[in-house]
Amino acid sequence: MATTEQAQVTKQHLIDPEICIRCNTCEETCPIDAITHDGTNYVVKPDICNHCMACVAPCPTGAIDNWQPVFVEKMYSLEEQYSWDELPALQALEVPADDTPVAAGTDSDAEVTIQGSNYVAGSQIPPWSASHSYTNLYGTRNFITATVSGNYRLTDESSESDIRHVVLDFGETPFPVLEGQSIGIIPPGTDASDRLHHARQYSLASPRDGERPRYNNVSITVKRVVQDYDGNPVQGVCSNYVCDLKKGDKVQVIGPFGHTFLMPNHPGSNIIMICTGTGSAPMRAMTERRRRKRQEEAVDEHGKLMLFFGARCQEELPYFGPLNKLPKDFIDINFAFSRTPGQPKKYVQDVMRERIVDLLELLKNEDTYIYVCGLKGMEAGVLEVLQEVAASGGMDWSELHANLRQKGRLHLETY
Ligand code: NAP
Repeated sequence: MATTEQAQVTKQHLIDPEICIRCNTCEETCPIDAITHDGTNYVVKPDICNHCMACVAPCPTGAIDNWQPVFVEKMYSLEEQYSWDELPALQALEVPADDTPVAAGTDSDAEVTIQGSNYVAGSQIPPWSASHSYTNLYGTRNFITATVSGNYRLTDESSESDIRHVVLDFGETPFPVLEGQSIGIIPPGTDASDRLHHARQYSLASPRDGERPRYNNVSITVKRVVQDYDGNPVQGVCSNYVCDLKKGDKVQVIGPFGHTFLMPNHPGSNIIMICTGTGSAPMRAMTERRRRKRQEEAVDEHGKLMLFFGARCQEELPYFGPLNKLPKDFIDINFAFSRTPGQPKKYVQDVMRERIVDLLELLKNEDTYIYVCGLKGMEAGVLEVLQEVAASGGMDWSELHANLRQKGRLHLETY
């Protein structure tokens, strides 16, 4: 039998590389920088992670929620974790349960409370009236094959930005989704290390009843990636694959993912949508859901829709034409263009500032839900304006912010 020292067992926090869609949410959420990544995997630093659980709820796929009992001296190193295509088999812990001391400073079970210090700006629960979401029905081992039924360019032909609306049909195989959820697409082939590509995540741009009503299909909004954020040329592996898809092509899909960024369903619920670029996908899905409901029910029993939408210029704005055709009494649309020649640079937060009075009216209402999607950089600016809105009405932002978070009323999905 192992000695007591040898027998020290702990639970090691691991990320399942098969399910992880490399969205970076965990790394951003971790309050103590215990999560990192290389070009292949997201991994947990065993010497730093304190099992605080802050990363668990925000993870869209559940890949983060793995805890393997391991001998302390056999904890998996970062190098080992980087090399995995799947989680390792459980270690054989040949120690009688009674003799198994738990290493100091680790948890003996999963009942760990979220510490006050693990600050997350957005809600970790959906609105109370959101429909039930199904998640992780299909993974890399049991992916679902979709057939491309359309691939349309959304941006003006004159624009260098190639953003596409791609429709995927699941035929007879069930794929239940809600607005705000996302899917993973597995690009074919292998990477430079000869490993299969991991899936890339795309938000759904279509509502729950299909891109085409009552069809078992979905749409996604994909931008062809030709350069990185510093302007260096890169070839986006999945984005180029998806943008080049032709009608009839078959695609490997996993998901659906996401259980919090969901829209409210109760009458009178207002939605404020704030997005940049392709972050407009879930906003299109929610808008389309409300538009169809309004059409079906003849009476608009739902609340107000207010949209703040940022892009470099009008030609780069996905869904610009269709958006402009929506009735003004249905949705209040506010564009922010940052690079229109001869015009001052405007970001969504600047345009929100111009609408402080109307935003305050909505913020005062407990039935107002806020959704932010797009570039990571916008998050701080948007929260700052919301704080200003609250202050303009004499509201205490920290109280309001806590209320928004606790009641599933503030949702942030930025990358
Ligand atoms: P983009 O074209 O690079 O940017 C859109 C607009 O946002 C531009 O006007 C840009 O202005 C502006 N912007 C830059 N920094 C900002 C800041 N700090 N605050 C407010 N606005 C700012 O956007 P994109 O390439 O479409 O990227 C959208 C993001 O959404 C990506 O990070 C993507 O991963 C994410 N996303 C995509 C999906 C999807 O399903 N495809 C879903 C969710 C999220 P300037 O460039 O002129 O400064």
